[in-house]
Amino acid sequence: MTTGERDYDVIVAGGGLAGMITACSVAFYSNQSLRVLVIDRNLSSSLGKKTVTGWICGDAVGKKAVDYMSNRIGIRWENPEIEHDVKGVVAYSPDHETAVSFDGEGYLLNRKVLPQKQMKDALNLGIEVKDRVALRSLIYQDNMIVGVLGEEIDTKEVFKRTSKLVIDCTGVTSVLRANLPIKSYIEKRINRNDLEATGRYIYTFEIAQHDKTYFDPDYCIIHLDQEIAPGGYAWVFPKGENKANIGLGVQQKAFESLNKRSGTKKDLKSLIDEYVRSNPVLKDLKMTDERSDEGNSWGTWQVSVRRQNDCLVANGYILVGDAAWMPKPIDAGGIGPAIIAGTIAGKDAVQAIQQKDVTENGLWKYNKDFVEEYGYKTAGLEVFRRMLQDLTNDQINYGMKHFLSKMDVEKITNGEHPEFSAVDKLSMFIKGVVNRTLAEHLSHTSKMNEKLVSHYHNYPEDPREFPQWHLTLEHILEEAFAKFRN
Ligand SMILES: Cc1cc2nc3c(=O)[nH]c(=O)nc-3n(C[C@H](O)[C@H](O)[C@H](O)COP(=O)(O)OP(=O)(O)OC[C@H]3O[C@@H](n4cnc5c(N)ncnc54)[C@H](O)[C@@H]3O)c2cc1C
Repeated sequence: MTTGERDYDVIVAGGGLAGMITACSVAFYSNQSLRVLVIDRNLSSSLGKKTVTGWICGDAVGKKAVDYMSNRIGIRWENPEIEHDVKGVVAYSPDHETAVSFDGEGYLLNRKVLPQKQMKDALNLGIEVKDRVALRSLIYQDNMIVGVLGEEIDTKEVFKRTSKLVIDCTGVTSVLRANLPIKSYIEKRINRNDLEATGRYIYTFEIAQHDKTYFDPDYCIIHLDQEIAPGGYAWVFPKGENKANIGLGVQQKAFESLNKRSGTKKDLKSLIDEYVRSNPVLKDLKMTDERSDEGNSWGTWQVSVRRQNDCLVANGYILVGDAAWMPKPIDAGGIGPAIIAGTIAGKDAVQAIQQKDVTENGLWKYNKDFVEEYGYKTAGLEVFRRMLQDLTNDQINYGMKHFLSKMDVEKITNGEHPEFSAVDKLSMFIKGVVNRTLAEHLSHTSKMNEKLVSHYHNYPEDPREFPQWHLTLEHILEEAFAKFRN
């Protein structure tokens, strides 16, 4: 089969948030000259649904990421897909005494409504959408991916389509990536400790009393607390004056050890229910029955909290969004990076197709472009996340109170790693072994972050240089992780 005989130029596997943006980006950059097919297992009226229980997400995204997409490929999101505006995100220490704000202005999306807008955008750009197909594997020929194989969910018939390029946007559980049948640098499997088990409700409620550390209609609230959300965090994200997305994420290992320590057998749902009940501001909670939330007010799913896959391309194949482990390691925010990656992937895919080179080499620019735009900071944030997971609540209280300078807060606001320069200045005044260890760990993560960022700024131009670059990355990470139990 020659490339001219393929059914499509581009197949986008998975019509979720990342898939639809990527497809639109391909159509935009090719002036709609390429044949693009999006395939999803859901009905076209419910694209992007992660599980039978809905479009499980915290729904928050920064304005900057949305602007990034709008300014480049002309896709605009407004009400009703944007449900509520916020001024930023505030993270509270376990004792609620210290608050750190980050991420700047943003939006709360309606993830059930957004796919309809995405579908409209895609159809306007001449993109074909095939629903109700469960993709099972990739078709390959001479070490190149040349299409997808799956099953029509309703008729059980075999579904087979070929293309010059397959863009995998099937989310964190991607079977396509896990069974990638050709030789490549892509990592196929994720370590269990790099996944968070998460869940959330969408509730309406009355206000029992005012306390902006528990609910603030203008800010997304994050609660760092190892008892409430072991190895993760809990959140209350406003979707209006009397409506919020409330949930939490845990690291399974940390959760198991909390259960063991306290002799309990809590599961994720009971942990979330407890968290909701402990909120003194919210009363008369009801799972929303608005049409725009119907079938989407409760659910659990998983999210990755590591750096993105060290390589995002193979011959005839690209990874975007959760399938590439793009959510930010410290807060699991995956919408922003998915928007950025989808926009870039579309541009670079079109260029590769126009240059008639969709090999790993021809697609390599996407690796480099994503790292330069966003991916350079994620390995450092992964180290920071591992350090945080090791801390007790007392250490988090102390660290947030004493070691965060204005500069650090600015860095965190930009989604970057704090420098903790105050730690070195304060070192002789720090009392107690535990706090001194904490200070040492903060200095360590900050130094390792510097090394990692600089290493990522030297991401190889050419796939042949990747093995050496990757070996050095592994050495730096080994050194970085050596201090932590996690
Ligand atoms: C509880 C929770 C809270 C979160 N909160 C936030 C937040 O507040 N802010 C933020 O930025 N991020 C958040 N995230 C992460 C965010 O939801 C994801 O990063 C985002 O949805 C990724 O989009 P995606 O398109 O890559 O993947 P997905 O949204 O998972 O979409 C994948 C699509 O592919 C389809 N698909 C999968 N497999 C197949 C197959 N074999 N065949 C056919 N179709 C298939 C799926 O049905 C789905 O339509 C959260 C995640 C969770 C779980």
